[in-house]
Amino acid sequence: MPALRFHLPTAVTTSRGGLRRAVELVPARCRSVMVVTGAASAERAGYIASLVAGLDAAGKRATVFRGVEENPAIETVDRGVAHARACGADALIGLGGGSALDAAKAIAVCAAVAMPARTVLAMKPAPRGCIWFLAIPTTAGTGSEVTPYALLTDTAVPDKVNLSTPDSLPAAALLDAELTVNMPARLTCATGVDALSHAVEGMLSLRSQPLTDALAIEAVRLAGRALPRALAAPADLDAREQMLVASCLAGMVIAHTGTTACHALSYYLTLHHGVHHGHACGMLLGAVVDWARPHLPGKVRLIEEALGSPVPAFMTRCGLPGLASCNLGEAELDAMAASAAPRSNVQSTAGTPSARDLGAIARAACAAQPQPLP
Ligand code: FE
Repeated sequence: MPALRFHLPTAVTTSRGGLRRAVELVPARCRSVMVVTGAASAERAGYIASLVAGLDAAGKRATVFRGVEENPAIETVDRGVAHARACGADALIGLGGGSALDAAKAIAVCAAVAMPARTVLAMKPAPRGCIWFLAIPTTAGTGSEVTPYALLTDTAVPDKVNLSTPDSLPAAALLDAELTVNMPARLTCATGVDALSHAVEGMLSLRSQPLTDALAIEAVRLAGRALPRALAAPADLDAREQMLVASCLAGMVIAHTGTTACHALSYYLTLHHGVHHGHACGMLLGAVVDWARPHLPGKVRLIEEALGSPVPAFMTRCGLPGLASCNLGEAELDAMAASAAPRSNVQSTAGTPSARDLGAIARAACAAQPQPLP
C-alpha cells in the first residue's frame, strides 16, 4: 500500500438557509471582516447584503471587495490586499465561484505576509501566514474551499499561475445548497464537470493514495447521479447539496494529488478560446481517461462503474459540446500540447505523457463523436 500523507485543516459545514451559519463560523477574536466577491449574481440574489447585515448584527465591522473577474488577474489580488489593509481586515469571507474564492485566498495570504502577489508567487520557500479565511462557494465545481490553490492569470503572458502556500487552505468552508440553485444550466454543467474532472484526475494521478481514491470514487458516484438531476431540476436542493459535497470531496482529492494532463491541456482553451474552465476540462477528460486505461485498467473500470457510463457518454448526457466545436487546426493542437507539456501536473499523470502523447490526446478528444448512453 502506498504511504499515506493526508492533511486537511479546513472545518467543513453543510447548512441550508441564508448564510446565518456563516456569521457564527467567524471567530470572536476577528472584528473586521472583508467579504470578497466577484459574482454579480451573488449581489443580485441579495447574498452579500444578507451576509453584511448578519456581520453587522454580530458586532463585526464588515466591508466588501467587489468585482473579482472570471480568471482573476494577479493585479486584482493586489487591489484586494490594499483594500484589506485599509480596513484592517482580520478575517476574510470569500463568497462566489472558484474565481472569487481563489482571489480571496490569495488576498488572505498576501495581506498576512504584506507582500505583492508576484513576490509571493516567486518566493521559495513560500512565506508563511494567512488571515482567517472562510470560503462559501456559490457554484459546485472548483473545490477551492478545501484546496490550498489560488489559480490566477498573469495577463502579461498570458498564463495561468498557481499561488499556493503551506497556510493557504481556508480555515472554514460553508456548503449551502440554496446558494447554488440560481446557477444557470450552463454554469451548473461546467462547474459540475470540473468537479468530476478533479475526482477522476486525482484517481489517475501518480500521487494518488488510498485515502484520496476513497474520496474520489465517492465524488464520481455522487456527481454521476446528482449532476444530471441538478440539470433537469435546478431547484432540487438534494441534488444541489450532493453536487456541493462531490465538489468538496474532489477538492480534498486534488489538494493532495494535484490535477493531471487534462487540466494542463485545458488551460490553452480557456486562455486562447475563452472556453469556461469546466467545459474545457470536460472536453478533454474522456481522451485522458482513454490514455490512462492501459496504465490503470482497474481504476478506469471503477470510475466508469461509479459514473454509470463511460466518460464521453456522460458528457453527452449533460449536454457538453465536444472539443471539435472549438475548430482547432493542426498548428493549434500542437501549440496546446506544447503549452501543457512543461506543466508539473503532466508529470504526475499515470503513463507520464510526452508532448507528442499530449498532442495525440488532444487529437483523440477532437475526433471523438458524441456517444449515446449504453
Ligand atoms: Fe479545475
